[in-house]
Amino acid sequence: MSTVFSGIQPTGEPHIGNLFGAMFNYVKLGEQYGKNAIYCIVDLHAPTNPLAYDKSTLARLTYEMALANMAVGLDPEKVIFFVQSHVREHSELSWLFTVQTPVGELERMTQYKDKAGKLESVPAGLLMYPVLMAADILLYKADTVPVGEDQLQHIELTREIARRFNHTFGETFPEPRAVLTQEALRVPGVDGNGKMGKSKGPGSTIGILEDFGSIWQKLRVAPTDPARVRRTDPGNPDICLIFDYHKLFSDLPTIQMVDVECRRAGIGCIDCKKALLTGIERTLTPIQARAAELQQRPQQVYDALAHGADQARAIAQPVMEEVREKMGFLKL
Ligand code: ATP
Ligand code: MG
Repeated sequence: MSTVFSGIQPTGEPHIGNLFGAMFNYVKLGEQYGKNAIYCIVDLHAPTNPLAYDKSTLARLTYEMALANMAVGLDPEKVIFFVQSHVREHSELSWLFTVQTPVGELERMTQYKDKAGKLESVPAGLLMYPVLMAADILLYKADTVPVGEDQLQHIELTREIARRFNHTFGETFPEPRAVLTQEALRVPGVDGNGKMGKSKGPGSTIGILEDFGSIWQKLRVAPTDPARVRRTDPGNPDICLIFDYHKLFSDLPTIQMVDVECRRAGIGCIDCKKALLTGIERTLTPIQARAAELQQRPQQVYDALAHGADQARAIAQPVMEEVREKMGFLKL
């Protein structure tokens, strides 16, 4: 049977891009794959971006990310769910891949170039990020990786790393494939500034656990079709991020109505945004209710993560033994 692996960073509040691009898929694949579905809060990745890392918030954000996933429906009893730094083998395999990966391949990664471009001093860890990601996936010999479109290039590199290792040391790892949710390949940020991203801060994101008053404040000022200056100007929903969100949250009649009415100036942007808020409330209310329940019992989240790390280690340790042996390390 195939093994599914995916990770999410504790770099900020989880948002609707994470939800539709990744988290809903975790739940769906978890139901199919059971204990062959492995999900990880990848906290070792967080410090690679100094703009998103703060030692005083890392533990809280890690806990909150776990809680948010459980509130969305991820069941730690059914799948394997844990925190990356609790399973040391991730770091070890990452190093063994680092020594085999050409720097040039890493410098070509667009996410590296984007994130490095915003920094005065670029940590080597940011360049190595996709190597650690390859280690995360291959440590469990996973072949199926649910991610958003922004991770495709990293998955391709993971395949390359697996291929190179197999070629040099003998068949060991599968070449994993990405699984995308077609309707949410790349959810745009509510500020209109590219992909929604945790590390871009709350101006970019609509949080899964954010209160609806705060979500409305962001939607109200969110950019729409710039050609639509007056209420009477026709708009183009195909270039409007509000319409992108409608496609995720609204029912079909509402989506069709917005599509038609925007083009003939039959609906104004504010009413269109209000209709969207209704859909957002419908989707997020039950998730927020489950999160509030879990908040009452944080120990349940910690226990689940401790148990998950034990299960992950039981898979990772024999794989590391195999890797050490194949690479020729002294065994006592
Ligand atoms: P950061 O800004 O720190 O990179 P992020 O919001 O991009 O945070 P990640 O933890 O890097 O979130 O990614 C977690 C998962 O969510 C990945 O599978 C990623 O592809 C997916 N994802 C992230 N942002 C989006 C988005 N805007 N649309 C669709 N999927 C997304
Ligand atoms: Mg990201």
